[in-house]
Amino acid sequence: MPKTLFDKVWARHIVTPETATHPAVFYIDLHLIHEVTSPQAFTALKERSLTVRRPDRTLATIDHSTPTKINSDGSRPYVTAQAERQVQTLLGNTRAHGIETHGWESENRGIVHVMGPELGATQPGMSIVCGDSHTSTHGAFGAIAFGIGTTQVGHVLATQTILMRKPKTMAIHVNGELGAGITPKDVILHIIAEIGVGGGTGYALEYRGNVFEDMSMDGRMTVCNMSIEAGARCGMIAPDEVTFNYIKGRKFAPKDYAAACEDWRSLRTDNGAVFDKEVRIKAEDIKPMVTYGTHPGMGIAIDNFIPKAGTKADQAALDYMRLSSGAAIAGTRADKVFIGSCTNSRLDDLRAAAALLKGQTVTIETIIVPGSALIKAQAEAEGLDAIFTAAGAQWREAGCSMCLGMNGDIGTPGDLVVSTSNRNFMGRQGPGVRTVLASPETAAASAITGVITDPRKIGEAA
Ligand code: SF4
Repeated sequence: MPKTLFDKVWARHIVTPETATHPAVFYIDLHLIHEVTSPQAFTALKERSLTVRRPDRTLATIDHSTPTKINSDGSRPYVTAQAERQVQTLLGNTRAHGIETHGWESENRGIVHVMGPELGATQPGMSIVCGDSHTSTHGAFGAIAFGIGTTQVGHVLATQTILMRKPKTMAIHVNGELGAGITPKDVILHIIAEIGVGGGTGYALEYRGNVFEDMSMDGRMTVCNMSIEAGARCGMIAPDEVTFNYIKGRKFAPKDYAAACEDWRSLRTDNGAVFDKEVRIKAEDIKPMVTYGTHPGMGIAIDNFIPKAGTKADQAALDYMRLSSGAAIAGTRADKVFIGSCTNSRLDDLRAAAALLKGQTVTIETIIVPGSALIKAQAEAEGLDAIFTAAGAQWREAGCSMCLGMNGDIGTPGDLVVSTSNRNFMGRQGPGVRTVLASPETAAASAITGVITDPRKIGEAA
């Protein structure tokens, strides 16, 4: 019987099938941990005298609470003593349990969803979890990857399994030719605006079509990263030569690479496989996208007008954003720009921002935060940091930074931040801060003009 990609990977990890009264026991290949959601889990383990079942299948980094500015004397200004304690606690726990950890001294330290792929730890056909919603990022490699809560982090540490029910499957086909300047971020914001912020609830998504086949791994990760913003359990893209070339030579790449690739080539949806739901989108309909509300489903093309609020919640979102129905979104005054997060902090993203910022000057505070120390080094080797700083932007150390603001990188109440992150919830970037989600290109263009700007217009002006 023809199977979907999700069904194939799901079947490889079932320890005990689900029944009417019990979820499946699902094996986890890779557990990524960081300083925020793991301390309580390790405490729970200690209280029950349990050990970590597979330290060799667990990888740790520090990212959420880490400062992105280093003092001139080399010290690290943590925003609070608690933030520093979280980091120290993680380092102590992972040392005690023999878990590979990418701390300050590691060239791979950085955002957990940047680090895993960068090390080659993220591979096709795997099951991957982490105590962070945007674990869906790893689905870009043809893995089933999803975020879990703190209690589940403890469960996975102790058992290397999780209890879960099988989600339904949804294929999202995007075929055709993307217009000039249309990015993976625009594609996923368009998809979420189309299917709705809850449109993926209960589903595992598979992104299908030539648009995804033509994307780099960086672009595929941007797309899968935001699957959770449509409510989906996870998002996947079938692995192909682009995937295999990306993993080859990385630290955790399989030793017998040819054999691994042969197996991975079988991880494709069979002809005739049936999805529970299918959505079809024409690539030609996608334009640069921005959000105007307080969830990622409230997105429009940048040359469009803010729609009429259909519900009280929509009106409350517009009131919070200080935006009005019927107004053009382009030209709205911005106060800050943030380029970073596990959605858009990779080399492709930084190169795209640099291409726009080269020879330009930013007119509002612009913070650029690479996803990992390695990406920072690679960007610097290419001279991207020099372009950013010459333009007046701030070039920071790797970390989550203004995606969530846990490290103190936040806006001032009332600020409108054009941000390449994944969530525009009220207050996510600081109390009263208004977040407009966008691509690195749109963020860079807005940094130059000080208003929400279609990046294609910067080219025109030049
Ligand atoms: S960048 Fe944002 S979404 Fe990604 S891991 Fe960090 S806090 Fe989570």
